[in-house]
Amino acid sequence: MSDRLAPTTTPDTKFFWDALKDGKLLIQRCAGCRALRHPPRPMCPRCNSLSWESIEASGRGTVYSFVMPRHPSWPWFEGQTHIVALIELEEGTRLLSNLRDVDPAAVTIGMPVEAFVERFDSGVALHQFRPRREDR
Ligand SMILES: [Zn+2]
Repeated sequence: MSDRLAPTTTPDTKFFWDALKDGKLLIQRCAGCRALRHPPRPMCPRCNSLSWESIEASGRGTVYSFVMPRHPSWPWFEGQTHIVALIELEEGTRLLSNLRDVDPAAVTIGMPVEAFVERFDSGVALHQFRPRREDR
């Protein structure tokens, strides 16, 4: 896999995608009540504050759910099993990603995973997850 479609960015999500280019996985945090939220959005659903900041995630999490879509086929997944996973970060927020470096038959709900940033030929940087190894 050498390329992927670029994510659709908005003024609210740009910081998240820009940080990945620097190798950082960020989580938006309300500057009012300090609640974490993802996906990024302008207003805190808890206290309605429009002020926010971000923290860097540890990258550690677990598989909350996953699917292996078969259709439509995408040229960059030709011949590979494409695993789309909802990851629950240890900070408590969940985000969609892909699982990599794993036998699809070995994926389980609750599997410990860790994030890494993959850079593609087009310059796109995406957060990906792989099984967690404590010695990394
Ligand atoms: Zn808040």
